[in-house]
Amino acid sequence: MTDRRTFLAAALGAIALPKLPTVRVRDRAPSFDPWLEVDADALRHNVAEAARLAGGRPVLAVVKNNAYGLGLSTVGPVLDRLDTVPGLAVVKVDEAIALRDAGVAKPILLMGLSTDEEAVELVSRDVRLGLFTDAAPALLGKLAARFNRRIPVHLDVDTGMNRVGMPYHRALPWMTAIADSNAATVEGTFMTFVEDDAFDPEQLARFVALAREARQQGLTLGRLHAASSHAVFLRSDAYLDMLRPGLALYGAYPGEVTDRAAASLRPAFRLRAQVVRVEQLRAGDSVSYGRSYVAQQPTWIATLPVGHSDGYPRSAVKGCEVLIRDRLYRVIGAVSASHCIVELGSEKTVEVGDVATLVGPDRPEILPNTVAERAGVSVYDILMHLSPLLPKRL
Ligand SMILES: *Cc1c(COP(=O)(O)O)cnc(C)c1O
Repeated sequence: MTDRRTFLAAALGAIALPKLPTVRVRDRAPSFDPWLEVDADALRHNVAEAARLAGGRPVLAVVKNNAYGLGLSTVGPVLDRLDTVPGLAVVKVDEAIALRDAGVAKPILLMGLSTDEEAVELVSRDVRLGLFTDAAPALLGKLAARFNRRIPVHLDVDTGMNRVGMPYHRALPWMTAIADSNAATVEGTFMTFVEDDAFDPEQLARFVALAREARQQGLTLGRLHAASSHAVFLRSDAYLDMLRPGLALYGAYPGEVTDRAAASLRPAFRLRAQVVRVEQLRAGDSVSYGRSYVAQQPTWIATLPVGHSDGYPRSAVKGCEVLIRDRLYRVIGAVSASHCIVELGSEKTVEVGDVATLVGPDRPEILPNTVAERAGVSVYDILMHLSPLLPKRL
């Protein structure tokens, strides 16, 4: 039995996962606040599926943005224990530190930029810097002198994204300067695709040509990596030495992946809450802000304490459904900050306290991709907009 304080502490990342008892909630919940159930088996399954598609290559697991909403301190330790996962990757400094605080032992790659002061703390906590600035060779010199050892790093090469990364056309002298500093151990070299069918091959060609030339000059590049979830499904020529997916690990397919038979991803989370109110509308009664729903005849409705501030999309009223007691019910009216309402019909089929699944692999399943498609939003938003305050249960 886990008390409310422990749930809240876990939600806020204050307690490392290994110390948390495992709680499985199916039909009963201790609170009317909504919560997120994270399925460690599904996470492990999805990592294995990605690796299988790529002939057993290792999977650098991207856990940025609070593990795509599922919770850094919940997801991090699960992925950390997998043999197929050589490390985890984030974009923000605080997330790299939070992973260490959560007990993650494997290498963590920081793909964003840190200040020099932060870099000292990151190196002391064994976080790999993903380098891309002109200042990197000098910074490495200082760090190596301070720690009296070589600093393990990855080199981020920009092959056409023009977001972060060292532009490929001036990367060679930069890589040479890093090598000449004798201050770094280059464990990996990576790039990011723009995910455009016509341009991705050109990016890959630029990357491979650069890597070939660098190696001919005796530079060490470590593992080459480029494949996010999109490439895991759609670009097998970009698997290189290691995959770097995020989304797929949590059980969702990038929107462009229409053939989903190649891999059987399993949603790694459920968004759930208990029904807080069941009421019968009279003909002519309306529902929620804006009165967009008006009952034509006496109609039962149920209210769930989940809204757009929890991450459930406002546009769910365009056709999303919620599972309660083995049946799907349509979201009606408006999704407000902390509530949404479903139409039950002419019968009172649910009770206050029934557990509803808004996203999750129950039967009938409500896939993250289905919610995204019906709401007309990117599936990334369904995961990444989940509120960090949602209590996490493993
Ligand atoms: C987010 C991210 C990934 C993972 O992308 P998915 O599409 O979620 O698989 C990989 N690499 C970088 C640099 C990223 O920012």
